[in-house]
Amino acid sequence: MVDEKYISEIVESVIKSIKPELPEKQLKGVFPTMTEALEAVQKAYKELKGYTVEQREKMIQKIRELTLKEAETMAIMGVEETGMGNVPHKIIKHQLVANKTPGTEDLSAKVMTGDCGMTLVEMGPYGVIGSITPSTNPSETVICNSMGMIAAGNAVVFNPHPNAKNVANYAVDLVNRAVLEAGGPENLVVSVYKPTMKTSDEMVKSPIVKLLVATGGPGVVKMLLSSGKKAIGAGAGNPPVIVDETADIAKAAKDIVDGSSFDNNLPCIAEKECFAVKSIADELISNMTKNGAYLLKGQDVERLKNICLVQKDGKYDINKKWVGKDAKLFLKELGINSDAKLIICEVDNSHPFIQVEMMMPILGIVRVNNIDEAIDLAVKAEHGNRHSAHIHSKNVDNLTRFAREVETTIFVKNAPSYAGIGAGGEGYTTFTIAGPTGEGLTAAHSFTRQRRCVLVDGFHIV
Ligand code: NAD
Repeated sequence: MVDEKYISEIVESVIKSIKPELPEKQLKGVFPTMTEALEAVQKAYKELKGYTVEQREKMIQKIRELTLKEAETMAIMGVEETGMGNVPHKIIKHQLVANKTPGTEDLSAKVMTGDCGMTLVEMGPYGVIGSITPSTNPSETVICNSMGMIAAGNAVVFNPHPNAKNVANYAVDLVNRAVLEAGGPENLVVSVYKPTMKTSDEMVKSPIVKLLVATGGPGVVKMLLSSGKKAIGAGAGNPPVIVDETADIAKAAKDIVDGSSFDNNLPCIAEKECFAVKSIADELISNMTKNGAYLLKGQDVERLKNICLVQKDGKYDINKKWVGKDAKLFLKELGINSDAKLIICEVDNSHPFIQVEMMMPILGIVRVNNIDEAIDLAVKAEHGNRHSAHIHSKNVDNLTRFAREVETTIFVKNAPSYAGIGAGGEGYTTFTIAGPTGEGLTAAHSFTRQRRCVLVDGFHIV
């Protein structure tokens, strides 16, 4: 006799093992496999070609609206899923993306006319773009990339960080909801429910994908740049901040505490080590403690080092479970009860708090003799990432010299680091800052191909 119940149980478990389990709510644009995601996005790109720039702009406007409406939801989801950062700052980051990511206005055409006629250069789309996103700004990067890439006429396939897949895929769903509301095609941005290295590999190698964009640490940027395809790499940083004797010290102290503690120091642009000229170092530290910093001293500094760092091949590396945690949790671990938002401590230049990109609300401060020493050490601590660097000074020569020597993509003077991405500073925002490949602060124009159209003996009317 055949036991039908037994057979159907076996069939069910086999089906389950073949098809990954879907969450209760079917998310728009999110697929069980990368193969299905790629097929869907290729179809969407073909449909998008029939849309006008005005229609694309409507889609961008809808993405802005929904992002503002659901900023808090995504902020809460992001903190809960990754265990990193904090909700109020993640809300601000989503608002920044919604309000200050450029749309189609970022695209422009060039015209050359002369005796031979007229030549037009237009910014065309790549087609389907493959984007790898980080755990530190998961939904922010998905939405910001989508806006720039769609504005430029592309469709996007994402392979989000596995540790932030739910919130990143929520953002994929949000973008698709917005596009559909604006009358756009289905599945204009896609992703997979369970992103892995295997799905990433399939995406990178797929002939459907014409441009790759990676936002993350050195490993992923290196992998994309060796893929044989055109790639935009937005890699790691370790931004130094210098304070010299001409700075407004009270303001510098507050700005540094605000920038360095923002989202618990997760942003790649955030101040990660400080070089203070010795004549103002005490005043700077004292003002930092008046603005939410806790000054850690003596044995506690080394105890903290042993909590948040691990030794790997004789080098210090971050202890991942402490990345993006609240400052008060580190202090609690040390037996200190405080609501401080940033931990500061004086260390020497070789200390890992200076040399390692920690992404924790801990700021090492090195006391230096003068601006020459400050610039020398700050340039070395940036490790040639060419990412971000900051300074507080009123001496134009010092400001200029540091900018020239450090050669970073973002350089902020006399403000918190986030002014560099348009929060309290002029200019648009992005969450993909491409230092290694040179696109800088990416926006719609970064995701375009230059195309030339030549008409001989015509349209030249002078
Ligand atoms: P991460 O490098 O661990 O992960 C980023 C993405 O790359 C993830 O999707 C991950 O799954 C993938 N990945 C990592 N190594 C890979 C490999 N070898 N092959 C294929 N995929 C790989 O980064 P994270 O911890 O999520 O984010 C923090 C890092 O990203 C920091 O170094 C920070 O400076 C950097 N970052 C840079 C920018 C920028 O705009 N330049 C923005 C945000 C974060």
